[in-house]
Amino acid sequence: MSQHWLLSSAVRDLSIMDIADMSEEDAFKFFCEVRWGNQTTQSCLSCGAIDQHFFRASRRQWRCKHCDAYFSVTTKTVWADRKLSFKKLLLMLFVFTSSPNGISASSLSRKLGVAYKTAWIFCHKLREALMRTEDKALMSGEVHVDGGHFGGKPRSGQFRNKAKPEAIAEKIKLGKSQGAKRSKISRANFERKKRNRRIVMVVRQVTPGLGGVRTRCFLAKAEDDSAARFIAQNYIEKGALVRTDECPAYSMFSSRFIHETVEHSKEYSTIDGVNNNQAESFFSRLRRSEYGTFHRMMARYMLDYCNEMTWREDHRRTTEGFRFTDALRRSLIVGYSRWWRCYGEGVRRGSELLFNENK
Ligand SMILES: [Zn+2]
Repeated sequence: MSQHWLLSSAVRDLSIMDIADMSEEDAFKFFCEVRWGNQTTQSCLSCGAIDQHFFRASRRQWRCKHCDAYFSVTTKTVWADRKLSFKKLLLMLFVFTSSPNGISASSLSRKLGVAYKTAWIFCHKLREALMRTEDKALMSGEVHVDGGHFGGKPRSGQFRNKAKPEAIAEKIKLGKSQGAKRSKISRANFERKKRNRRIVMVVRQVTPGLGGVRTRCFLAKAEDDSAARFIAQNYIEKGALVRTDECPAYSMFSSRFIHETVEHSKEYSTIDGVNNNQAESFFSRLRRSEYGTFHRMMARYMLDYCNEMTWREDHRRTTEGFRFTDALRRSLIVGYSRWWRCYGEGVRRGSELLFNENK
């Protein structure tokens, strides 16, 4: 049996020790390297001129040789107006990218000695960068599609109230039915449980032998025709092989794709190997993150968490250094944070990101 990827030495090309050994100057240079590809030239953020601009060492800022504008390495990135040191940002980033099931803001705040709100905004700015730089190309080849319920309260098992023997004897004496009544959930309670639940729709491109190679997801309120139509139009190339479960909403897929289904009430994979297990395995890991790491995913921010997990899924076989640099690069090219800038001053993203409204 070959060695597991995560146990091999190739994956350990960067560790938290490497970052701990960096000085603030090294960390700053690392940012410049990732943003501009080298440490000598910079691209002006006002006029775009690439040059060796005038450097003000005391403020770590440049003045453009052509338009006199001042800029720093974090100008027009999600880290604009940062108060954290470069080294601390890198340390937090490493903890974020190297945790396989994600990391909660409270855990990150204790590990790095920053306030909870700082850690929460840090994580969400990164999630925003990952979401807004997502590869939106249509998927082809074999694609697995499914919807899963997340958020709100976990579904509780059905149970019967256990009747006491005396109560049963009393009932027999009175000639009434013996059956204990199933406890009923009130309509109001049911609505309350349902309010925070959303359907995460996942679309995964699968390469035989490698498993899921590209993953995208969105939020819906129901696994219905409109969600299926949205997938057909925005996620998958015409003529692809699409595998789903027997949910009737997907019946429209057969007009556009080669559509194969597996009946989950009977089996998880047909005798010919038709299954949508790559979609299911994504849900399994998202579920573990929800229960074990995040503990709660508000409907308003659920898509951010889901997108983070798609990124983790798609980069599961890359090295620590690659993941670290990839996340940092995305956070430096995405522009200002749309959703988390001025969060501390009370600016909030107004609505949740449901598919028919925002994507
Ligand atoms: Zn300029």
